[in-house]
Amino acid sequence: MDIMQLDRTYIAGTYKRFPVEIISGKGSLVRDVNGKEYIDMGSGIAVTSFGVADKVWIDAVEKQIHKVQHMSNLYYTEPCVLLAEALCKKTGMKKVFFGNSGAEANECAIKIARKWAAENKSPECSTIVTLENSFHGRTLTTLAATGQDHYHELYQPLTPGFAHIPAGNLDSLESLCNTGKVAAVLIECIQGEGGVIPLDPGFASALDRFVREHDILLMVDEVQTGNGRTGKMFAYMNYGLHPDVVTTAKGLAGGLPIGAALLSEKVQDVFSFGDHGSTFGGNPVAAAAALSVVSRLTDDFMDQVASKGRLLRSLLEGKPGIESVSGLGLMLGLKTSKPAGEVVAACMDKGVLCLTAKDKVRLLPALNIPDDLLCKAASVILSSVN
Ligand code: PLP
Repeated sequence: MDIMQLDRTYIAGTYKRFPVEIISGKGSLVRDVNGKEYIDMGSGIAVTSFGVADKVWIDAVEKQIHKVQHMSNLYYTEPCVLLAEALCKKTGMKKVFFGNSGAEANECAIKIARKWAAENKSPECSTIVTLENSFHGRTLTTLAATGQDHYHELYQPLTPGFAHIPAGNLDSLESLCNTGKVAAVLIECIQGEGGVIPLDPGFASALDRFVREHDILLMVDEVQTGNGRTGKMFAYMNYGLHPDVVTTAKGLAGGLPIGAALLSEKVQDVFSFGDHGSTFGGNPVAAAAALSVVSRLTDDFMDQVASKGRLLRSLLEGKPGIESVSGLGLMLGLKTSKPAGEVVAACMDKGVLCLTAKDKVRLLPALNIPDDLLCKAASVILSSVN
């Protein structure tokens, strides 16, 4: 049996895979089992921050593997401490909890919000408000946080205590707050799975003020937007927000599983011994990989990401077949005249791997993709949109 048939036989059928088996790559070029080369404009859905088989990343991982690949959180290990320090120094946050995925990072944020509110407000103050059309993960609690009904069907009952408001509508939040039950608001600055939709800056600053006036936590889900993706370390920095909790995952370790919840001064001591944990959280190999990624996300490098984002946008915006371009930095959504799925299929035929998000073509290339590959990919996309 070939791999595709074996996959269908033995892997739970949750993924609608493209008929392509990738076996190797270098940077932003990947190769399939038949030797066909593709420009990777998806980077594993914003994961391989420095592309595939990046030398610096491999060295960091390899060095750690030869020392110790795992210890339990009963003992100290250096990589996760240095990573936490680096994340705090880059953000002004005070402490970090490490898990293994975006959903877990959000679960951690939700637990923090509930415990903080129970101790500082009242145990009934447990509602987490999120935005309609948001995406926060696939566990039963993060599905409840996700503001898209179609993900909820058939998985009831979900974790109670979530409310969804339309992005841009502060009045809805105000009426919810009048019940005295709101602990926190959890937002994506750019809704990724929801169709690459940036938050309106006016709403974002009003929300930032509102939560402080009402003593509610602001939690920003940077699972997809974080780690340099938008041309800043985290997307909330483009909006001047003051989050109490920042969650991230995906690109943080450049291709190994990791999740992190960054805690501000206000909530840094909410958790005490035994409140939360994760066997693999802060795993030394994933942490060493992440430390190598984070140490490369310098201000100069962020400027390069922003400029690559501007280049890609300028190559596509206003061109025939492209109705609109949304997003920031190297996280772009294209509304195309032709259905997004057809565009992605045509691009794949011509050697460019793109993603979709709702009705958009979504582009999330590696942060260091060379400009010439961006230009080539853009011309393939333009030749595929109508
Ligand atoms: N939050 C956001 C904004 C995401 O985009 C995702 C995944 O796409 C998640 C959370 C869930 O992350 P994971 O699949 O690592 O659990």
